[in-house]
Amino acid sequence: MGSYRIALLPGDGIGPEVMDATVAVMRHIASGTSGLDMELTSHEAGATLYRQQGVALPDDVLADCLDADAVLLAAIGLPDVRKPDGTEVQPDMMVGLRRALDLHSAVRPVKLYPGVDGPLKNTESGIDFVIVRENLEGLFSSYGGGAVVGDTVATDTLVVTREGTQKVVDFAFKLAERRNGRPVDGQRKVTCVDKANVFRSFAFFRKVFEDVAVEYPEVASESCYVDAMSLYMVQNPSDFDVLVMENQFGDILSDLGAGIVGGLGLAPSAEVGDQHALFQPSHGSAPQIAGKNVANPLATILSAAMMFDWLGDRHQDQAALDASRRIEQSVTALLTERKCCTADQGGDAGTSDVGDALITLADNL
Ligand code: NAD
Repeated sequence: MGSYRIALLPGDGIGPEVMDATVAVMRHIASGTSGLDMELTSHEAGATLYRQQGVALPDDVLADCLDADAVLLAAIGLPDVRKPDGTEVQPDMMVGLRRALDLHSAVRPVKLYPGVDGPLKNTESGIDFVIVRENLEGLFSSYGGGAVVGDTVATDTLVVTREGTQKVVDFAFKLAERRNGRPVDGQRKVTCVDKANVFRSFAFFRKVFEDVAVEYPEVASESCYVDAMSLYMVQNPSDFDVLVMENQFGDILSDLGAGIVGGLGLAPSAEVGDQHALFQPSHGSAPQIAGKNVANPLATILSAAMMFDWLGDRHQDQAALDASRRIEQSVTALLTERKCCTADQGGDAGTSDVGDALITLADNL
């Protein structure tokens, strides 16, 4: 029997709308899943709060995120809300949460659902791979640091450690063990994406990858330079199963991944550590469409499905795994039938309509 306390951070812009639709689906699925209980605690955090109170992530909210079984976040940041140094509050809050919760691995599924009109022509073999991004080190180690010398030179330092690389690579291989392999032939495979031909830090990343790969003889392994991978993701996406890479490379390639499977409105994510996990759509707060009930909530709803999957795997809880599967099956049915699409998917449905349609579909699975 799983009983979970989930901290909700609706945030800014379209965040509260997509969170409302997601919570409606989660409550419905949980109430129909025997042995699954949820307690949801919603908190204000983000740019709107910063504008009102001068703080984006209050200490008590962070404490509740640390105390909860999982965190579900919708969107943080508004372009016109800035700190005195001119930067937005979003990176401060997200990097702060990642560091506080020790979320070493970020997971971005790149999956083309039936019925979705992606930009690529040849997708008969299917697209279903996962980007695993190292989430605490790499170029982002420099966040809050870096140096500017006068008006002439600026530096940020990229950091790769054996411990951090081992964790993310190990996570990637364990994920490959749970998946069904690459679409083209079902082969389970982890691909290291790096720039080992040029930089010592990436040659080291690859060396650690190869050391870890030996422990997973049932999963194929290979390495690829990041520039070539950005070509292959467009030309042969069905060749890949799990990709693992440094933080900044993962940041960039995961948006390319979202682009080839229908855009940010369909791109969920998970950020996972040894003790905590945070789930959020890959998109931001889309302020230009906020408050109009037109935003696509599916990326957040699929992030909730990833949350139930993580809880189920971590606690060996079949009820949570079932909830995850039911949400994903409902989303698949909705997209396949092209029944209730928001504007980004070529339809005219409202954000709340999508939540309602999923609830009806879930009842008829
Ligand atoms: P964005 O993701 O908010 O929007 C990019 C484009 O995608 C826009 O055209 C937007 O309308 C569209 N879009 C995004 N989500 C959508 C959805 N669910 N349904 C339909 N269309 C959607 O990125 P941006 O414009 O670069 O940033 C806006 C704000 O969000 C900024 O303040 C930025 O800092 C913040 N941001 C937050 C996060 C986060 O919370 N993790 C991530 C990225 C950006």
